[in-house]
This record gives sequence, C-alpha cells and structure tokens, in this order.
Amino acid sequence: MTVTRIERDPSYAGDAAAAGHIAELIAAGRAFDARGWMPATSGNLSARLADGRIAITASGVHKGALDADGILLLDPDGHAEAAGPRPSAETALHLTIYRRDPALHAVLHVHAPAATVLSRLHRDEVVLHDYELLKALAGIETHEAHITLPVFPNDQDIPRLAARLDAWLDTRGTTHGCLIAGHGLYAWGRSVAEARRHVEALEFLFDCELRQHRMQHP
Ligand SMILES: [Zn+2]
Repeated sequence: MTVTRIERDPSYAGDAAAAGHIAELIAAGRAFDARGWMPATSGNLSARLADGRIAITASGVHKGALDADGILLLDPDGHAEAAGPRPSAETALHLTIYRRDPALHAVLHVHAPAATVLSRLHRDEVVLHDYELLKALAGIETHEAHITLPVFPNDQDIPRLAARLDAWLDTRGTTHGCLIAGHGLYAWGRSVAEARRHVEALEFLFDCELRQHRMQHP
C-alpha cells in the first residue's frame, strides 16, 4: 500500500532497469504531446517494472513537460496512500491489462484525434485489414491479417469500464489495444518501446480509415 514519487524512492535510485523504463515513459509522453495526442494534461502512461511495481503518470501532469517527478510508483495492486500524490484516475484500467497477461510491461493511453473521432463512428469495434503497417503490431506478419479492437462507451466509472474490457478479452482473446468512444486509445505491449510502436501504428491506421471514410462520404 505505497505510492512514492520516483525521485524520492531510494529503491529506484539504484535500479538502472527501472530508471530506463521511466526514461522511456518520459520520452513517450513528450513525443506524444508534441504530436497533439496528449492535450491539456490528458492521457496516462505506465510501465510494469521487474519487481512488479507499476510506474504511472501522476494525475494532472502535462506530458509536454513530463519528468521523473510526474511519475509515481505503485505497489503491484496499484494502491495509493490517501495522503500521497494521486496516481492517474484511470489506473484501474492499466492494472486490469497487467493482471491479464504477465508478459505485458507497458500501457499507454492517448487522446489522439484519429482514435477519438473513429471511436465515434464505430460504436462496437474497429477492424483493420489490408494495411502494410499492421506488421508494426506484435505477432502480425502480413497485411492480410484482420485486427479487431473493441470500442467501449465512455464511462467515468473506471472499474466498470475495466470490467467491460476484461469481459471482451475473455470472449474474444488478446488484441493490441482498445478504443473508448469520444475519448481515445489504450494500447499495450511487452515493453514501453513496443507499446509506443503500437500507439503510433494504430493512430496512423485510424487516420487512414478516417481519410477513406471522408472520401466515401464527401
Ligand atoms: Zn483518458
């Protein structure tokens, strides 16, 4: 039941691997913000460290100026001390994803424009196929693959939203991310680098879908 600001945690100070993961989160936050994918302090980024702790962005931090002081360490259950700094409001969704698959080590959530708009056009799921860039997604080796990403209604009740994701994954199996209607994208991976590649590839593919939609519905 602990939450610690990264810079004041002595166990983190000597842990080069943890420091590396956190540096990758900071770089991802700044890069995503520069692309307009994390406007106005939105979105949240996390990495699961080797000891099971979760490093996650603090609530209300602008990702364009993200540094180590904007990242918190949570215990593996994600509990925070009431008096400590607050982790992201959407921590429960990150924990649900980590709980399902021990191989996953990063969850990145962005309010990127193409994801946000496409999630309003497809209320159930988005299916991507016949794109070369699908091969940027882990385990996909051909453009002929069909990738299905669920779209959930937006919900301020994060545990309820997490339960919906859990139920979808129970029924449909693994995927690379999910959309929340009018809200944005969650993508995950076995490392921060892989999850970042997934965010970049998916946002590109969503943008392609939107451009095609505009051409078909002028
Ligand atoms: Zn969000």
